[in-house]
Amino acid sequence: MTLILLYKNEKEVDALVSTIADRFRDTWIYGKSEIELNAEIRVAYVPEEFNDVTLLTELTESNSDIETPGVRVFRGDELDSFKRKAQVEEALKKALEEDTFQVYYQPIWNAEKNRMESAEALIRLTDPELGFISPEEFIPIAEQSGLITEIGLYVFEKVCQFITKERTRALGLRYIEVNLSVFQLLVGNTLEHFLEIMKRYGVTSDQINLEITETGSLATSNTMISAINEMQEWGFKFSLDDYGTGYSNLSYIMSMDFLNIKSDKGLLWDADTRESSSIMLTDTIKTIRRLGMNVIQEGVETKEQLDLVVGAGANLIQGYYFSKPLPEEAFYDYMIEFIKKSIINR
Ligand code: C2E
Ligand code: MG
Ligand code: MG
Repeated sequence: MTLILLYKNEKEVDALVSTIADRFRDTWIYGKSEIELNAEIRVAYVPEEFNDVTLLTELTESNSDIETPGVRVFRGDELDSFKRKAQVEEALKKALEEDTFQVYYQPIWNAEKNRMESAEALIRLTDPELGFISPEEFIPIAEQSGLITEIGLYVFEKVCQFITKERTRALGLRYIEVNLSVFQLLVGNTLEHFLEIMKRYGVTSDQINLEITETGSLATSNTMISAINEMQEWGFKFSLDDYGTGYSNLSYIMSMDFLNIKSDKGLLWDADTRESSSIMLTDTIKTIRRLGMNVIQEGVETKEQLDLVVGAGANLIQGYYFSKPLPEEAFYDYMIEFIKKSIINR
């Protein structure tokens, strides 16, 4: 709910905020039930603090973290994160309009065959005013604002273009891994759009592998599972991203028919310093391999990490040890060097 107070001074505003906050700290009665409600109150002065429509919309409409119990009041500097979100959202819209997103590729190495199996497509954005914005920051904003559907299609089309290029074909990659937000599976006719784009470029579904991240109940909802199954019927394969960060259990993995399980980089990095993480990681890798799935270990930066996970049975490796994600031209250069070296060492 938005309350607009005209011509009030700070004292009057503070008094009103206290009244509202106090009311929410009390119990509410609904029929015979007592209910505790969480509340988030955002106090902004217009136009002194917020003079832009997108900023105001972000402030009044963006979802709050409703899980946080109690009453929270945001004002002054505490509203900066909303401002930043609104700015990033604007940058995303502009990048879509002006076609200024980039797609980078990071190679994935097959440890058994000593060749590059595939590559992961990773989106990049450098805004003229905000500078480089990490996808870790802007993908959640794209998901909240609904822009993810369009961004997802943008990446997918760039990947299809990339796959059909002669220079890419010559590299002999088996497929390209494309990140798919679960929101794309729930809205926006993603499958139809994918099929249309693929037809236009002459790409087949076995040339693409979709990565989805486990996100709590959403990933296991029936809608999600049937959306994934439908795509699988069209020949798309799936990888489970960031495995080990929380939600998935082995029975879920088994029921979903994933081709690859991507073991999260966090656990690997912890394993450098913690014996318990190292045991958990190597056991997980062994179990997944025994269940017949590939393990892609992401975030491998050092020889020690490589030896640890390959020793445990990880058959696919992604990380700075081999290469960072690279723009197309640099990716071709890297791959050609890699192929040359492996021929010499044969
Ligand atoms: P992700 O899908 O788990 O991608 C792997 C991330 O780990 C990438 O970060 C990659 O650059 C990074 N990485 C890989 N190896 C190493 C390593 O050895 N060391 C370090 N320090 N980092 C490594 P990036 O590109 O910043 O992407 C972050 C996340 O943003 C991705 O995590 C993915 O969830 C999301 N994302 C990126 N591109 C897309 C996209 O096109 N669509 C969607 N829906 N999400 C995307
Ligand atoms: Mg990924
Ligand atoms: Mg990951």
